[in-house]
Amino acid sequence: MLEYEKEQIVAFGRKMLEAHLTTGTGGNLSIINREKGLIAISASGLHYLETTPDDVVVLDLKGNIVESTRKPSSEFGFHLDIYKQRPDVNAIVHTHSVHATTVACLNMELPAVHYLVGFSGRKVPLAPYATFGSQELADNITATIGNYNAVLLANHGLVTVGAKIQNAFDAAEELELIAQIYIQALAVGKPVILPDDEMDRVIDKFSTYGQPGGK
Ligand code: 13P
Ligand code: ZN
Repeated sequence: MLEYEKEQIVAFGRKMLEAHLTTGTGGNLSIINREKGLIAISASGLHYLETTPDDVVVLDLKGNIVESTRKPSSEFGFHLDIYKQRPDVNAIVHTHSVHATTVACLNMELPAVHYLVGFSGRKVPLAPYATFGSQELADNITATIGNYNAVLLANHGLVTVGAKIQNAFDAAEELELIAQIYIQALAVGKPVILPDDEMDRVIDKFSTYGQPGGK
């Protein structure tokens, strides 16, 4: 069941570790197959290097376990709620990457300090703190994310979303870099923030960036 999605969950979990976006068992990731109405999500508390496709849990949209040998991520509630709210989103990545989480621990948003914030939108908004795995945290995320492709979780980490798992992963990687730049800029002086109309141009240009049709 969802064999392709399960393999992607394993592959991108490893990439999260390799890209230093998480450590140990922190963070989680999922992919929805909208035709089948099923979600493949990482198992709770299982090291990414020890995860095989068989460990990936399949849930329906109500959160019922359809196939598993493992307990699903403790954050499956916010994954489900984002999929219900955002029909454009088919994959979700959650990390505790150091610099994005530092900004989140300051309870700050990540403003458009660099044009690559466009991976999220005009900024990365901040969802208020709530205990990990709680419905309150899921509610805070869905109340904050709007049409952004990323949201910081106060005193916790970062969530990114995308049409494909590669998009959500790329956003997590780029926004971690921008969070580092923002912290460094704050340490030296007053970062200059790009205006909304420039960010709108950037976001528009992203839609035609790179090679036509992908690679
Ligand atoms: P899981 O291992 O249950 O996915 O939890 C990790 C995490 O990041 C909780 O916010
Ligand atoms: Zn977390």
